[in-house]
Amino acid sequence: MTQLPNSLEARDIAFQLHSYTDARKHEEMGPMVIEKGEGIYVEDSSGKRYIEGLAGLWSVAVGFGEKRLVEAAARQMEKLPYYHTFAHKTHGPSVELAEKLVTMAPVPMSKAYFTNSGSEANDTAIKLIWYRSNAMGKPEKKKIISRVRGYHGVTIASASLTGLPNNHRSFDLPMSNILHTMSPHYRTMRLEGESEADFARRCADELEKLILAEGPETIAAFFGEPVMGAGGVIVPPEGYWDLVQPILKKYDILFVADEVICGFGRTGNMFGTETYGLQPDIMTLSKALSSSYLPMSALLVNEKVYGAVADESHKIGTFGHGYTAAGHPVAAAVALENLKIIEERDLVGHVRDISPTFLKRLHALGEHDLVIESRGIGFIGAIELAHSDLAKTPGALGAKANAAFTERGLISRALGDTMAFCPPLIMTEAQVNEMFDIAEAGLAAVAKAL
Ligand code: PMP
Repeated sequence: MTQLPNSLEARDIAFQLHSYTDARKHEEMGPMVIEKGEGIYVEDSSGKRYIEGLAGLWSVAVGFGEKRLVEAAARQMEKLPYYHTFAHKTHGPSVELAEKLVTMAPVPMSKAYFTNSGSEANDTAIKLIWYRSNAMGKPEKKKIISRVRGYHGVTIASASLTGLPNNHRSFDLPMSNILHTMSPHYRTMRLEGESEADFARRCADELEKLILAEGPETIAAFFGEPVMGAGGVIVPPEGYWDLVQPILKKYDILFVADEVICGFGRTGNMFGTETYGLQPDIMTLSKALSSSYLPMSALLVNEKVYGAVADESHKIGTFGHGYTAAGHPVAAAVALENLKIIEERDLVGHVRDISPTFLKRLHALGEHDLVIESRGIGFIGAIELAHSDLAKTPGALGAKANAAFTERGLISRALGDTMAFCPPLIMTEAQVNEMFDIAEAGLAAVAKAL
């Protein structure tokens, strides 16, 4: 595509390196410029409107253009645009948000700690876990287990937790002491004739085997998303978490629930932890926490973690960790207002009410010839595509579907050949139908062109 000189597109190519993008291809294709948003829709620079079927990056829970968040930010900007929480300082918004999150937590949590992204939250969780092991006089208890196809971020440690090849390849990752156990994806990982219940049992057995092979005394923690998101929207098999959790308890392994996508309503409960009856020691939160109007993330830690960390910081004389912008007062004020909206409008109840239609339409797409599996829960769903002509080029079919959806006014995300649907939580039933009508038409067009 030729770009006008000095156009935004041309300047983007000239000056910006993009995340999760083939940079050379970008030089040829140029960007899609999103200019504004309202509700579940965004508009590009040509004035074309799209349903944001992924809520940005699973994040804009309350939709675009929410004035209450703009006003909350403006009020806080005027009063105190910045302060930090280092060295015994604090400010109102960080205290209020910490209290709100600890109070909301579905399992007993002791403290909130603020960070700026999901990656930083998970990275910090690892540091807290290591710090705790040292505090307990167990310096050998440092290994962390996550899962193949799990997604936990892109900093050196969180990218190591992430179990996806593109986050490791050419980055010299994963770092040592981070281990991956099998993905709980039934369709691709099951043995012939294996029932879902037997598969869940095998996932748990594999985890236990890994723990025993490494030495339980060396394993500090296990990280898992209640429902895997960026690794392809993998809903765990029935009974999976009920089998995994006792193993963690048995070997005194901390459980970190990465709620970065599932948190704040996505699965039809406030937290994925409730949906699956989890008992995490640490929860990491981001995205819908502030609807991503401003960067904000947090960890909730229980007394087991906090107590040891507090003792160690006392011994050393300080807890030597912290980000300049963490707990930012403007971001915290926005997060507080955002949580108020989620509660006042009962968006969690809304997701529960509309999810049956969402899942019905999702699974109806699953009947399409190009779709080999549909999976979802709450307001998170995916279809996995396959076609014999494109079997040798993974991702090619996803790219075609992505283009067909975009052309018809739906932004989704191709995770390889998996198309994800993860709309703003405010999406109405009519809009759910509008979204899947477009997806159906897009798939039909792709099938016809093959
Ligand atoms: N954890 C999960 C479950 C995520 O989905 C993501 C982002 N997609 C992250 C962590 C990392 O968050 P961030 O991109 O804000 O660093």
